[in-house]
Amino acid sequence: MPGAHHQHTLGDGLVPLINKLQDIFSQAGVDALGGELELPQIAVVGSQSSGKSSVLEALVGRDFLPRGPDICTRRPLVLQLVHTPYSHASHHERAPAEWGEFLHRPGEIFTDFEAIREEIEAETDRGVGSNKGVSEKQIRLKICSPHVLTMTLVDLPGITRVPVGDQPVDIEKQIREMILSYIKRKSCLILAVTPGNSDLANSDALTLSRMVDKEGRRTIGVITKLDIMDRGTDALAYIRNEVVPLRLGYVGVVNRCQQDIAQRRSIREARASEAEFFRHHPAYAEVAANCGTEALGWTVSRILGDHIAELLPALQDKLVARKNDAARELASLGDGRPDDPAGQAAMVLEKLHGYAASFTKAVAGKNEDLNTTALEGGARIHYVLQDIFVKGLESLDPTRAMSEEDIRTAIQNSAGTKAVLLLPEEPFEMLVKQAIKKMSDPCQKCARLVHDELARIARQLISAQDMQRYPRLAQSVEDATRDFLAEGLAPAETMIASLVDCQLAHINTNHPEFVGGSKALRLAQAEVGKRRGGVPGQENDDSFEDAEGGVASRSPGARRALGDASAKTNAIVSSKKEPSKSELLYSHEDGVVTLREPPGKLQASEPSTDEEMLQVIVTRILLGSYYSISRGILTDTVPKAVMHFLVNSIARGLQQHLIQSLYHPNVVSSLLTEHPETEAKRVAAKAKFSALSAAAATVATMPSELAGAGAVRR
Ligand code: GDP
Ligand code: MG
Repeated sequence: MPGAHHQHTLGDGLVPLINKLQDIFSQAGVDALGGELELPQIAVVGSQSSGKSSVLEALVGRDFLPRGPDICTRRPLVLQLVHTPYSHASHHERAPAEWGEFLHRPGEIFTDFEAIREEIEAETDRGVGSNKGVSEKQIRLKICSPHVLTMTLVDLPGITRVPVGDQPVDIEKQIREMILSYIKRKSCLILAVTPGNSDLANSDALTLSRMVDKEGRRTIGVITKLDIMDRGTDALAYIRNEVVPLRLGYVGVVNRCQQDIAQRRSIREARASEAEFFRHHPAYAEVAANCGTEALGWTVSRILGDHIAELLPALQDKLVARKNDAARELASLGDGRPDDPAGQAAMVLEKLHGYAASFTKAVAGKNEDLNTTALEGGARIHYVLQDIFVKGLESLDPTRAMSEEDIRTAIQNSAGTKAVLLLPEEPFEMLVKQAIKKMSDPCQKCARLVHDELARIARQLISAQDMQRYPRLAQSVEDATRDFLAEGLAPAETMIASLVDCQLAHINTNHPEFVGGSKALRLAQAEVGKRRGGVPGQENDDSFEDAEGGVASRSPGARRALGDASAKTNAIVSSKKEPSKSELLYSHEDGVVTLREPPGKLQASEPSTDEEMLQVIVTRILLGSYYSISRGILTDTVPKAVMHFLVNSIARGLQQHLIQSLYHPNVVSSLLTEHPETEAKRVAAKAKFSALSAAAATVATMPSELAGAGAVRR
C-alpha cells in the first residue's frame, strides 16, 4: 500500500502540523514530542461484537484487525502508530513506506497487512489458547507510516456476560477490570461503541465510560450497524444526542458486515457504500454531518487538535525560556573580536580602562559587587595595615627582652676605663638603636603583605572582568599589573628603610613624650627604695603613682619595663651571695697574691651599690620610653608610605601603565585572540538562539493553523 493509494487515517490532517512542530523542536534542540506533545491514547470499549475492531480499523484505514461475529479480540491490542517520514523510514535497507512490527517478534517487518492480521490471531491463540479464553496480556503492534500521527490506539476485548468455552465464571468482571485499567487514564480518549440495534440506555460501553469519565469530557459515542436495524426503526434519536446525552455527542457509522469481510471488500469500497447509505437514508439526512467513518475521523481529529492547542502555551513558554537561556549564554560569551583595527583598539582601551577603574574602586572599597561574607579589596588592605602591622608592631618591645645584665654590660663597656655616670647616655643610645633596628623587618614585611594583597586583587579582577575569554589579554594585563605593583613596592621599601634609618639617625631625648632624665631618676629611686627597703614610704609610693600617671599612660612600654625590671633585679639580689667568686680572680698563697687571667667572656660585675642598681633601672626606663616613641612614629608613617607608594599609585598610574605597556597597534589584534572553543560556542549559541526565536514565532501561529486543520472537512 504505497503512499499514493493510502486511505485517510486518523487525524492525518494534523500530520503536517505535527511534523512542523516536531521539526521546529528538533531544530531548536528541544525534544518535545517525546513528552509534552504526546497525544491522547484512544481506546474502543463496548460489548462483544458491537463493532469495536471494525471502527478502529476504519479509522486507521487499514485491514489488519481480526473481526468476526464471535469473540475475536481476546487480548488487548496496543497499536502504536509511529509517524515515519519517507526519507528515514527505517533502519532497514530499502525501507517500505508502511510497515508493522510486533513487540513479540522484534526485527520482523510486516508489509502485508493480511499477514499482520494472521499474526494477531496466532499470537492471541498463543497467549490464551484457541478456545475463547481472554487475557490481559497485551499484544503490541507498531505501525510505521508517513500518513499516521504518532499516537496509540487500543483495541479491547468486548464485554461478555455468559462464559463460553474455556472462559472462567467471572469472565465479565475480569474483562471490565481490564477495560477500566485502560480507560481510567485521563489521557485516554474513549470511543464508546454501541450497535444501533441495541438499547443505548443499557449500553455496556456507556456504562463503563461513565465510571471513569462522569463529565463525558473524553467519551465519543459511536453507533454501529445502522444498516442492519429493524426495518422502520432508526438511531436518529441516539445520534441527535437525545437518549443518553454526551458532551462530545455521537457519530453513526456503517462498517463492513461479515459477508463483506469474507468477500474481502476493501476499506475503500466500504467507505463508498457507507457514504451511499447515508446519502439515501431519509432518517439521517439531518444528521449527515455526524455520520460516517470520515465524520468520526474529523471529530477525533478535532479533539486531538484541541489537545495540541492546549499544549501549545506550555510549549511556547518552554521555547521562550530556552530562547532566553540562549540569549544569556550569548551575552556571557560577549561580542568577540571586532573585525576592524579601530574597533579592536577601542575594545582593548575599554578593557584596560575598565580594569584599572575597577581595581581603583576595589582598593577604595567602592566595588558594587562587594562580597558581604568576607573582607575584600580595600578592607583587606586596611586589615593588613591596622590589624596585622600596627598591632603586631605594638606587641614588639625588644627593650623588655634585654636583661639587667645586658644593660649593665653595655654601661660598663661604654664607660670603659672611666667611672660610670649616673645617667649613662651612650649605652642608652646604643641599646635603643638595637631595639629600633628590630622594627625594620616587620616594617618591610608590611609593604610586602600589602603588595601581595594587591596582586591577589589583580588576579581576581581578571576573572571578574570577564577577561579570561581573551587569554592573551588576561595574561598581559596580569603581567603588566604585576610589574606595576613591583614598581610601587620598590620605593615603598626604600622609604620604609629610610624611615627606620631616620629613627636611628638621631636620638631625640628632647621629645616631649620622652620620660626625661630627672623623672626617670625619680622613678628609679623609688624602685630602688622599694627593693632595698622592703615596704616603700608613703612619699615614694605617691611619686611612683604620679610617675605612672605621667609617663606610663603615654607609653605603656615604660610601665611594663618597670615591672619587668623589678622582677629581674629581685631575682639577682636574692642569689647574690655566691661564694668563691674571688677565687676566679686571684688566690693567696703564702702571703703572695696570684692574679688570674680574665676569662675569655667577661661578665659585667653585679650591682653592688644602690647607685649601680639605679643606673640599670634608669636606663631601662629611658629605653622603654624612647623605644615606644619611635615605635609610635613607625606605626604611623609606615602605613602612610605603603599607601602612598603602593596603594594610591594604582589610582594615579595603573591605567597609564597598562596603556603604555599593552596598547601597541601591532599587538592589539593578538591581545583579543579568543580560545577557539569560545568562538565555536558563540556560533552554536547564535544558531540556537535564532532557531528558538523562529520556533517561538511558528508556535505562535499554530493555534489558527490547528483550528483549520482539525475541524475542516477535506
Ligand atoms: P468487536 O467484537 O466489537 O470488535 O466487533 P467486530 O468489529 O469484530 O465486529 C463484529 C461483527 O459485526 C463482524 O462480523 C462485523 O463484520 C460486524 N459488523 C461490525 N460493524 C458492522 C456494521 O456497521 N454493519 C454490519 N452490517 N455489520 C457490522
Ligand atoms: Mg474486536
